[in-house]
Amino acid sequence: MMDIGTRRIFSEEHDLFRQSVRRFFQEEVVPYHSEWEKEGQISKECWEKAGTQGLLGVNTPEEVGGIGGDVLSTAITWEEQVYVNCSGPGFALHSDIVMPYITHFGNKEQIEKYIPTMTAGTCIGAIAMTEPGAGSDLQGIRTTAKKDGSDYILNGSKVFITNGYMCGLCLVVAITNPSAKAVAHGISLFLVDEGTPGFNKGRKLHKIGFKAQDTAELFFEDVRLPASALLGEENKGFYYLMKELPQERLIIAVMATASSEWMFEETRNYVKQRKAFGKTISNLQTVQHKLAELKSDISVGRAFIDQCLLLHSEGRLDTSTASMAKYWCSELQNRVAYQCLQLHGGWGYMWEYQLPEHSLMPAYSLDMEAATKS
Ligand SMILES: Cc1cc2nc3c(=O)[nH]c(=O)nc-3n(C[C@H](O)[C@H](O)[C@H](O)COP(=O)(O)OP(=O)(O)OC[C@H]3O[C@@H](n4cnc5c(N)ncnc54)[C@H](O)[C@@H]3O)c2cc1C
Repeated sequence: MMDIGTRRIFSEEHDLFRQSVRRFFQEEVVPYHSEWEKEGQISKECWEKAGTQGLLGVNTPEEVGGIGGDVLSTAITWEEQVYVNCSGPGFALHSDIVMPYITHFGNKEQIEKYIPTMTAGTCIGAIAMTEPGAGSDLQGIRTTAKKDGSDYILNGSKVFITNGYMCGLCLVVAITNPSAKAVAHGISLFLVDEGTPGFNKGRKLHKIGFKAQDTAELFFEDVRLPASALLGEENKGFYYLMKELPQERLIIAVMATASSEWMFEETRNYVKQRKAFGKTISNLQTVQHKLAELKSDISVGRAFIDQCLLLHSEGRLDTSTASMAKYWCSELQNRVAYQCLQLHGGWGYMWEYQLPEHSLMPAYSLDMEAATKS
């Protein structure tokens, strides 16, 4: 875990905030997390406590109902969750992926309806892009929203949706103009409330990691949506999705770097106490070399990520740099996970040491593509 006060990009105020976030995760998440892993979701109370303590919507402006903190403050919440090794709470997706769509592209009514309850943790947000037949290639989606008078009729299904089982609000990506020359010009975003007739949640998916995160399938069958459910302008959805990508990629890069740091510290402590051939394995030179290599790689990643965080807090993080960060840091995370698992011997393969979970990073092909274009 990163010592508080050692990173130059953070002020004393940030360090104080970090202390309170750390306390929240240690007291309100860690003790319950293994139970939540069995249930496949965290508790509603945890969401509400996070809201009460000001941990949701941290970077959402105060005037629209958020906390009004800066990018670095919200990044602290991403990092601290990783440092307690609890992947369950889908706070980052809720606060820093779903909420920005509403504040950036929503109208006054939509902002007033959702932002205060999302900041309070009483309404949990999800975003549904992926479908059984379309993931990296978002232009392959089949979900449609057909005009019926001023309403839309939504039909389709989504899969792998984080916070999908618990969500009160789901931001759904659907085709509104099937005859557009390029699918990207015919996609819109809709705000769909839990309980809307025809909107059904499927099972919580059994994953190989992130076990306490409620990843779900969602089904939309003749869901009648009023015109007020459309976010922003019709057929501008793809453009909105692309605009939000740098922050979405940065979140993954930051969490991957924090995960590498967490694994390294766990492993360093482990090898200091594990004995083999009459001495602790940390005294073996090959083990020391391996640790030195890992530490060097992680330090390089940390320097780059802190630079990206600073750029983003100045509104200057471009898509290519964010893509490089996500690509490089998630690769680093996988390398560190593999090496740390091996340094734990057979114990590394046991769930209680939690190392395999840290090597899980879904596909990033699109990001590679963007990075190579720069
Ligand atoms: C834990 C978890 C949480 C998720 N949460 C959400 C969520 O909240 N909302 C949501 O909408 N989605 C979510 N997803 C879905 C995720 O975004 C997709 O899994 C991802 O976009 C990849 O899509 P896919 O699974 O269909 O893989 P595919 O697109 O089928 O990719 C399969 C393989 O082909 C490669 N590939 C694809 N295109 C190219 C290309 N052009 N060049 C080279 N290689 C390529 C990929 O890298 C991958 O290795 C989540 C997934 C997971 C695992």
